[in-house]
Amino acid sequence: MKQSQLFTKTQKFAPKDEQARNAQLLIRAGYIHKEMAGAYALLPLGIRSIEKIKQIVRQEMNRSGANELLMTGLQKKELWDATGRWDDKIVDVWFKSELKSGAEVGFGWSHEEPICDMMKSHIASFRDLPVYVYQFQTKLRNELRAKSGMMRGREFVMKDMYSFARDEQEHEAFYQECINAYSMIFEELGISEDTFVTFATGGAFTEFSHEFQTICDAGEDTIYINREKNIAINEEVLTQNTLKKLGVKKEELEKVRTAETGNIFNFGTEKSETLGLYYTDESGQKLPVWMGSYGIGITRILGVLVEKFADDKGIVLPENIAPFRVHLINIGKEDEADRLYKKMLEKNIDVLWDDRNLRPGEKFADSDLIGIPNRIVISDKSIEAGGVELKKRTESSSKILSDSQLIKRLTKEI
Ligand code: ATP
Ligand code: MG
Repeated sequence: MKQSQLFTKTQKFAPKDEQARNAQLLIRAGYIHKEMAGAYALLPLGIRSIEKIKQIVRQEMNRSGANELLMTGLQKKELWDATGRWDDKIVDVWFKSELKSGAEVGFGWSHEEPICDMMKSHIASFRDLPVYVYQFQTKLRNELRAKSGMMRGREFVMKDMYSFARDEQEHEAFYQECINAYSMIFEELGISEDTFVTFATGGAFTEFSHEFQTICDAGEDTIYINREKNIAINEEVLTQNTLKKLGVKKEELEKVRTAETGNIFNFGTEKSETLGLYYTDESGQKLPVWMGSYGIGITRILGVLVEKFADDKGIVLPENIAPFRVHLINIGKEDEADRLYKKMLEKNIDVLWDDRNLRPGEKFADSDLIGIPNRIVISDKSIEAGGVELKKRTESSSKILSDSQLIKRLTKEI
């Protein structure tokens, strides 16, 4: 893409009412637009990064055998009444409205109830199980506080997956598989070293649930970790009893600030029994379906990556998440840059060409703020030195490469 065709402008300052560093930088770089507290529009740069995160997640979900679908944002009151979760005193983040007929509807903050109910049309016998489904959905939550930018929105993108299994054993097998899939995802996002499968508050069927917590100073959670034993415990369940069960002493644990980037939850058969999701087994017996839910905060992850990696010049994102891999900048030398740009497009290199008629300093400052991992400068100076200058966003030194060396290098890295 040519930067002259990108409508967004970078900004020197973030809006005064924006306190979160991730949102300040994302707004200044032109990834997002703040509509109101907790509601951000995704602009071209933002949507490219979000799509890349989604694609990493999608690949792992598909690999685990899950089917992608998309539920509606509007939800029926009856379903949530049945499980006792329509009440604002029980679920304090509901946005609700009314149809013209006067009937009440809810705006989806979660899809556990609607998906369980929908499955009654598709699950009847043991032959129909197990089933795993997932979606990328924009959730609406009337959060009390929305001060963490992309990390806590009133409108945000979640990946939610749901599993439906015949029995506990089948359920457990998938639950483990999902932990593995999530670990792969965090590996690809470049934050596996700092992300912990964490014991957290459970539900009616299990003592604990598992959260994926990523070390991040701007996060809202506190967990206790032991890297050698690979144990992490959310402070909300840090009791003598928990420590004993997990075979670890409080002194062996390190306290860290984290953001919950994902979580997985076992419902057992509770929700299915309440909503009437049953199947018939081999012997003709009617049994409730085992259900689990598995979330990942897609937009929160972008916020966390910005918080973790940004420096004083701006955003720094991993190669596979940045909106573009290559930022081509010309200082004069339009024709040479145009030739190189076209060559890169031919080789499917994900490139943004800053073809604007601006001073070099402005182009470089924008490039650092946006945080594209590979900066290529073509100028009189670089041509004299033998080609183009390649500088990584995370390094201060640069190298001169010939056009063909550069193309070879960039295609090899894909
Ligand atoms: P939290 O404890 O942070 O409030 P939660 O336990 O309510 O989150 P879930 O309902 O399980 O979260 O949602 C799944 C994932 O969606 C979370 O792990 C988190 O990454 C993300 N998420 C939850 N709430 C928000 C929000 N308001 N804004 C952005 N992402 C969110
Ligand atoms: Mg939580």
